[in-house]
Amino acid sequence: MNKTGKLVILPGDGIGPEVMTEVRKLIGWLEDNGDIAFDVQEDCIGGAAIDKYGVPLGDETLEKCRKADAVLLGAVGGPQWDKVDYDIRPEAGLLKLRKELDLFANLRPAIVFDALVDASTLKPEIVKGLDILIVRELTGGVYFGEPRGIEDLPNGERRGFNTQTYTTSEIHRIGRVAFELARKRGGKVCSCEKANVMESGKLWREEMTTLHKDYADIELSHMYADNCAMQLLRDPKQFDVIVTDNLFGDILSDEASMLTGSLGMLPSASLGAPGAPGLYEPVHGSAPDIAGQGKANPLATILSFAMALRYSFDRSDIATHIEKSAQSLLTKGLRTADVMADGCREIPTTAMGDALINELQITMKEAA
Ligand code: NAD
Repeated sequence: MNKTGKLVILPGDGIGPEVMTEVRKLIGWLEDNGDIAFDVQEDCIGGAAIDKYGVPLGDETLEKCRKADAVLLGAVGGPQWDKVDYDIRPEAGLLKLRKELDLFANLRPAIVFDALVDASTLKPEIVKGLDILIVRELTGGVYFGEPRGIEDLPNGERRGFNTQTYTTSEIHRIGRVAFELARKRGGKVCSCEKANVMESGKLWREEMTTLHKDYADIELSHMYADNCAMQLLRDPKQFDVIVTDNLFGDILSDEASMLTGSLGMLPSASLGAPGAPGLYEPVHGSAPDIAGQGKANPLATILSFAMALRYSFDRSDIATHIEKSAQSLLTKGLRTADVMADGCREIPTTAMGDALINELQITMKEAA
């Protein structure tokens, strides 16, 4: 069989290797039971790479990632590397990977599974059925803008400053990602900025409006980012795709993910130019407090792999089956400790991976 594509797996640290074992099991099952075959390579990142190569992302590892269609990452970091130099800390490996692959679009879905509706801190009627996607610009804006720094003023005060900057092309390329994604979803894009007080926000709004001419089939609305923060709590189901800059996206995507109430369930994708490798990773960190105890929820990483199938391997069919399978095993009451509820059965990481495969077998048979 022709290979579906090249996948690089970087398990990382803490619970990373544990949850990634479950993804490898799933890939093995898919290869044995579906029309899919991957060229998989595995390597180290983060603390594991510091221990092996002396740096959090080795040059050879980066080269492998560049040549791949998709990179699936677990998580990096842990207390054992807290004292290493700032430049080679585990997180520096992840930041370097994102930068080198020029991943300018960060996709964070916030989906509330029916079975977990009570895990949200919001009322069930507000979040039931929620399915929104935040598209955050990841390589520009105030986190990277120049000039930046801290300076001493003649009056003895100190002054800290950063620069928010966006160009037409930066706005258009993230806007296109949002419009294209909306076309495959609910057909709505809400663009968020602070055009009322920031010139960069005014430009953002104008350029999104110009770009919209290429996407007349999509409904475009504009919202100030502070209002969006409120609307996400008041009536989150009004949104389909939200597109916003790096700073507002950082905040709004964290807020939106917490509407779901379960860190162990949240996938993410970061995409670059068409044809370039995408990076897929769970939103959670390396969870050193539970590492090695078989308590980690592997679903965020499994759902990140599903996003890779959809966005890098053009296999939305299998991605949808995996998402449905996760939904139905939760409905049957199978839970890892982080999403445990009354009347459910607590199972360890490996059993959750097995349960996903069992459900997938049923889901795929029903769809055939
Ligand atoms: P964390 O996400 O690792 O953990 C926060 C809490 O959520 C912990 O109680 C943890 O047990 C729980 N949790 C997280 N993922 C879970 C899962 N899959 N299943 C069950 N429970 C889960 O965040 P933290 O504790 O702030 O950070 C721990 C380490 O991870 C730090 O070194 C931090 O720098 C790193 N980190 C890495 C990433 C990344 O690799 N993208 C992201 C965030 C934090």
